[in-house]
Amino acid sequence: MSAFVGKYAEELIKNAKYIASPGKGILAADESTGTIGKRLASISVENVESNRQALRELLFTSPNALSYLSGVILFEETLYQKTSDGKPFVEVLQENNVIPGIKVDKGTVELAGTNGETTTQGFDSLGARCQQFYKAGARFAKWRAVLKIGASEPSELSIQQNAQGLARYAIICQENGLVPIVEPEILTDGTHDIKKCAAATEIVLAAVYKALSDHHVLLEGTLLKPNMVTPGSASPKVAPEVVAEYTVAALLRTVPAAVPGIVFLSGGQSEEEATLNLNAINKLQVLKPWTLSFSFGRALQQSTLKIWSGKKENVGKAQEAFLVRCKANSEATLGKYGGGSGNGLASESLYEAGYKY
Ligand code: 13P
Repeated sequence: MSAFVGKYAEELIKNAKYIASPGKGILAADESTGTIGKRLASISVENVESNRQALRELLFTSPNALSYLSGVILFEETLYQKTSDGKPFVEVLQENNVIPGIKVDKGTVELAGTNGETTTQGFDSLGARCQQFYKAGARFAKWRAVLKIGASEPSELSIQQNAQGLARYAIICQENGLVPIVEPEILTDGTHDIKKCAAATEIVLAAVYKALSDHHVLLEGTLLKPNMVTPGSASPKVAPEVVAEYTVAALLRTVPAAVPGIVFLSGGQSEEEATLNLNAINKLQVLKPWTLSFSFGRALQQSTLKIWSGKKENVGKAQEAFLVRCKANSEATLGKYGGGSGNGLASESLYEAGYKY
């Protein structure tokens, strides 16, 4: 049977295409309260609502930075927050032609009988929550499925469960007017080489697109958020050109051309590493039917966070750092990043074992 075409079809296609505009990308600022707490703890700032609001205000009101973004993913609390002048964050984004998005998953739980593999929760009242988020101004959503590489992982059970979960989430979003970002993240943890990551990525993406088809998802109204294909975190790194070759090959073999955009997660790469890899991916001389852009969390915020350190007097400098990263990644989506913004903080590794979002 053909793809679902409900009352939102045209709007979904238009918004997905806009988010995938060349030269623009997504800021993932949807860290759950627990995750943002870890970030704040790293700069000795207390995890209270006012501090979470202050960090998000710093990002969203950063002069000129939003011109490089087409979307920002928010956590539910942030969707309803305002600037200190009382303007809803959603309005700040809309006025700058940035589409607000919302994290709708509720984290992962272990699949019994596996070696620590997981499935993602959040189906309870998902349709009703999507409706409510649409009313609040959100036009796209994120659901993070997590897979891992090991001696016998990802297992068939984990591949099937996560593919089905992503597809069911995606169609519920589309029924309620939200463009689903489909995110099957294969963690970088491990000693494997890049070939093993490529093979796992292909198997997982093939299963995801079969499930999306089975669930009648309108691919033109979706975005894919995959990992880049890299060696495991405990293996030597390879050049950006090698990452680019393996990543684009895996995508060409599995992602239909009907998908308008692929927005990578940064997955523990340093800010500069993620930008250089994205640039090499876009420089690769092969026919690529989709826009290849970013939906980075850590790789857009790390130096900004460190420079801010919770102090009002550092806001200006922190916003300058954020602008540097947004501009560099925008150039990378066009294959035009010349390097040179990777000094100091931007080159620090952001890897954490078994990353939870
Ligand atoms: P990172 O870019 O920090 O990996 O996170 C992006 C994200 O949204 C994960 O779901």
